[in-house]
Amino acid sequence: MNDKLSSQSSIPIPPASRSGLPKEYDFYRVVQDYLERAAKVAKIEHYVETILSQPKNEIIVNFPVRMDSGEVRLFKGYRVQHNNLLGPFKGGIRYHPMVSLDDVKALAAMMTWKSALMRLPFGGGKGGIKFDPHSVSRQELQRITRRFTHALGENIGPEYDIPAPDVGTSGQIMAWMMDTYSNMVGAEHKQSVKGVVTGKPVASGGTLGRAKATGQGLVFCILEWAKEHAFTLEGSTMSVQGFGNVGSNTAVILSKLGVSTIAVGDHTGYLYNPEGFNAHKLQDYVEAHGSIAGYPGGKPITREEFFATKADIFAPCALENQIGEAEARALEVRLVGEGANGPCNPAGERVLLEKGIDILPDVLANSGGVTVSYYEWVQNKRSESWSEEEVDARLEVAMKRAYREVSDFARQRKCEMRVAAYGIALQRIEAVYKEREIFP
Ligand code: NAD
Repeated sequence: MNDKLSSQSSIPIPPASRSGLPKEYDFYRVVQDYLERAAKVAKIEHYVETILSQPKNEIIVNFPVRMDSGEVRLFKGYRVQHNNLLGPFKGGIRYHPMVSLDDVKALAAMMTWKSALMRLPFGGGKGGIKFDPHSVSRQELQRITRRFTHALGENIGPEYDIPAPDVGTSGQIMAWMMDTYSNMVGAEHKQSVKGVVTGKPVASGGTLGRAKATGQGLVFCILEWAKEHAFTLEGSTMSVQGFGNVGSNTAVILSKLGVSTIAVGDHTGYLYNPEGFNAHKLQDYVEAHGSIAGYPGGKPITREEFFATKADIFAPCALENQIGEAEARALEVRLVGEGANGPCNPAGERVLLEKGIDILPDVLANSGGVTVSYYEWVQNKRSESWSEEEVDARLEVAMKRAYREVSDFARQRKCEMRVAAYGIALQRIEAVYKEREIFP
């Protein structure tokens, strides 16, 4: 058996063109800038902004995993706990070759804003491992997940820090995380720690409606936007970047409302079908094959052609920093609904707004995921299981209320929806800091 210890740094990082992420993009700085702008607009006390400008804890773990070949590889995992004033840290786990501490810090801060905006008793956190989950076997994926969970140890817990799926992770990964954690806490606690992760498969203590929740939440936002702008969704068209959990569920749900998806893309390429894709079939295909590559129902197009495809709605549901100035100039749509976190960079956002394209910002638009994660956590605490109708009905109320609050704030303070979403979150967090004051 080959016992060589190889460093994770030897794993090739995909070229920027494949990953779509220019190396120098400073996502954390971008989120900081929005925090500063929103703090001004919402008139937040400077000390509150100072506290929120850095995460509370930044955890880095390096852990070994034996691969199928017998080789031992070292993996680097992160968990950033941004803020837990309103409740336990909460946020997804990402498996991707481009995961970095600063990106995880940016995503963790955004979780704090999302939980506060959605009035959830959670704070914000995020985690990840820097590797390509498509490059390992299922057994390796399980060992990596279990060893990472073990390495995090007491840094996570159902009342302390609660992970969930994000890019490259799934309900299956959450089931392995929960199982590992429950085996670490001792027999007497085993049954009471299901809520250590959310987004679990239903049979393992997940909730109905969680798998599609982020897409469903985005659709509720789009419905509110359509109502506000007297826009008829039935018969309209859409393009979607990223056809994983968020992108595929958004397309499937919107197809039932008469919205036809005419262009799709993922890490393998882009496809066009002017007649509209069968979103269900494409979702099944991706489930079976791991990507849209080779799907027979569309014509391959370039990334440039994808962004230049005229449609009513564009739903970026892949990664951050996908819509820069060039992409924004090319886009001919009425609405960008951000399923992904941070898909528009600031230059791209400026161009979109100049062109009069509305943006449903990530902190609002994709918060359906954490909202239904909260419903799952509550059900785990109470040993209940709610129907899908109940979950969806609660989510609808929550998303529509948040949309109205953000839209009203933006109108009253004459700011963009994104700054409004941050601003409302900051006001809610500030109110608690003012009451509780700073220890000691
Ligand atoms: P996923 O892993 O299920 O899907 C990601 C998709 O993005 C895949 O189709 C993948 O091929 C595509 N992709 C990756 N790199 C790409 C590239 N360079 N160019 C084009 N496409 C690329 O992940 P997901 O859970 O659907 O997450 C997507 C986005 O939504 C992320 O920004 C995530 O943070 C955000 N989000 C997810 C949830 C959730 O509940 N899963 C909740 C809120 C926000």
